Amino acid sequence: MHAKAPSPIARTEQPASHLFYGSRQRRPLVERAEGIYVWTQDGRRFIDGSSGPMVANIGHGNRNVIAAMQRQMEKATFAYRLHFENEPAEELARLLSQKMPGDLDRVFFVSGGSEAVESAIKLARQWAVATGQPKRWKVICRMPSYHGGTMGALAVTGDLALTETFAPQTLAMPAIPAPTAYRDRDNLSMEQRGIRYADMLEEKILAEGPESVAAFIMEPIGGAATAALVPPDSYFARIREICDQYGILLIHDEVMSGAARTGKYLGGDHWACRPDIITMSKGIGSGYAPLGAMIASRRVVEPVLDMGGFQHGYTYAGNPLACAAGLAVLDEMELLGCEENAAAMGDLLIAELQGLTERFPFIAGVRGKGLLIGADMVADPQDFTPLPKDKHANQRLLDLAYERGLIVYSRRIRGDGLGLDNFILAPPLIITKEQVGEMVGVLGDSLEALAKELDL
Ligand code: PLP
Repeated sequence: MHAKAPSPIARTEQPASHLFYGSRQRRPLVERAEGIYVWTQDGRRFIDGSSGPMVANIGHGNRNVIAAMQRQMEKATFAYRLHFENEPAEELARLLSQKMPGDLDRVFFVSGGSEAVESAIKLARQWAVATGQPKRWKVICRMPSYHGGTMGALAVTGDLALTETFAPQTLAMPAIPAPTAYRDRDNLSMEQRGIRYADMLEEKILAEGPESVAAFIMEPIGGAATAALVPPDSYFARIREICDQYGILLIHDEVMSGAARTGKYLGGDHWACRPDIITMSKGIGSGYAPLGAMIASRRVVEPVLDMGGFQHGYTYAGNPLACAAGLAVLDEMELLGCEENAAAMGDLLIAELQGLTERFPFIAGVRGKGLLIGADMVADPQDFTPLPKDKHANQRLLDLAYERGLIVYSRRIRGDGLGLDNFILAPPLIITKEQVGEMVGVLGDSLEALAKELDL
């Protein structure tokens, strides 16, 4: 028999002070999680209004996924890719590639989003070398953006405060503005704005020298850094056209927007996009296992393999247990109708949030698709004047909602020259209509408290 686990009470009294993450903040110990709810050991219940950081797409505590993982654990929990293939990885790669556009059917498994982005950057670089274009090494990105915490992923993250912290190891890559067309005040139509933002890529490529650029990386629907930013429709085709014109690879980072989050399997599916490389994580493991993938087109992978192989890989790549979880998650997504429910509940949630803007005029720019919905918190909704930084509206909303049992994702954006506070709601994709009502109710109470506290 196993030794008795240490008492959870004792652990609560003596917080795990050897752990450290981003700050000194401590949170209560988690006890269990089911559906859209999480319970802590001190007896509180939370609505997981952001699925963690947009991870728990199929919801917590899914018995079928747990059972599938248990079955795999009885067989093999680890098989090293240089020694053995494994069935869950093979099958998950096959099923994932069926969900990808065009000829993106080469799947490279990793354990998280940063690893997926890191892999995409390294593949793009090796593709350039393998195709006789060794001077192409830059990856243009957008400002603001977030693509991960490892050095390569950080280099393409549009947040100078972050990249400069790690200079000179990390060299910030060239960036173009994210297409925040919803808050532009000009006489252009949305479609004209979409083209204008996309054209900035061409200008940047020309300024850098097309022969030096390997790839452009973007989220089709923005996540952490832009709070569910949806570009105008015209943006996508023009971006593809520019990439083709200059022989540059297009990388779609679907770490947050993928895996049914926005009501279609990929965020880019809303526009029938054809990127060359797609990065995924978060929802494909849905929190049951650390899992990520980089999926690339044959046209990119084959020259690299011909040249002698992809000079990159991780010990846990294609881990059978993680891939068994991924397979079961994919099954459950179908069974539970996650795409359809995300689309329907997303429509409801966006309407509810729009309703809240009447009650709380400091909320503006409600946007998103499916269950990736964001909004800004502003001093003036007409011109998106930011709230004063020292009000810490993002942190206060987060705390006030947390006190009331709701997890929201709230940040003050760096790198867009404005510094807008915003928040995202992105609950598990199995949320019901009643639960949407419950979540919006608690959000409304939290915003009410915020308005009082900050005199908004
Ligand atoms: N890419 C995007 C779009 C993300 O949102 C994130 C994380 O939030 C990452 C990459 C990095 O993923 P991870 O934290 O799993 O390394």
